[in-house]
Amino acid sequence: MVVHCIKQKPEPWYSEGLRFECIRCGRCCRGPGIVWISPEECSAIADFLGLSHDVFVREYLLECEHGFVLRDRLDMGCVMLEGDRCIIYPARPLQCSSYPFWAEILESRDAWLSEASRCPGINRGRLWSFREIRSRTLK
Ligand code: SF4
Repeated sequence: MVVHCIKQKPEPWYSEGLRFECIRCGRCCRGPGIVWISPEECSAIADFLGLSHDVFVREYLLECEHGFVLRDRLDMGCVMLEGDRCIIYPARPLQCSSYPFWAEILESRDAWLSEASRCPGINRGRLWSFREIRSRTLK
C-alpha cells in the first residue's frame, strides 16, 4: 500500500484575525513613501475630485518608469492630505485602503508590532477575520 503524505501549509501567525481600526490621524500619509495609482484609480479619483483626467495628472501625479504615483508636498506629506484629512478618502487608491494588510507587514508578528508603533489604529477596534485579511492583502 502506498501512503501519500500531503504536507499542510502551516497556519499564518494571524489565523485568529487581527484588530485594526483607522482613527484617521493621517500619520501614515505624512513622511516619505510612494503611493502607486493605477489607470482605473486615476480616472476614479479625477471623477471624485470633479477634475478632467489631464488636469488631475498634471496637478497631482508624477510619472515614473513603472507608472504614476501621487506627488508629495514639500514637507513630504501626501498631496491629498488637508490637515489630518484625506480629501479623496472614499476614492483612495488600493494601496491606501488595504493598509495595514500588506504582505511585508503581515510577514511576521514582529513586523506587525513594529508597524503598530507608527499606526495607532493597529491592535485596536474591530477584529478582521483571517479571510477578510486575505481578501484585502496587498502583495
Ligand atoms: S496611521 Fe493608522 S490610524 Fe492613522 S490614518 Fe494611517 S491607518 Fe489610520
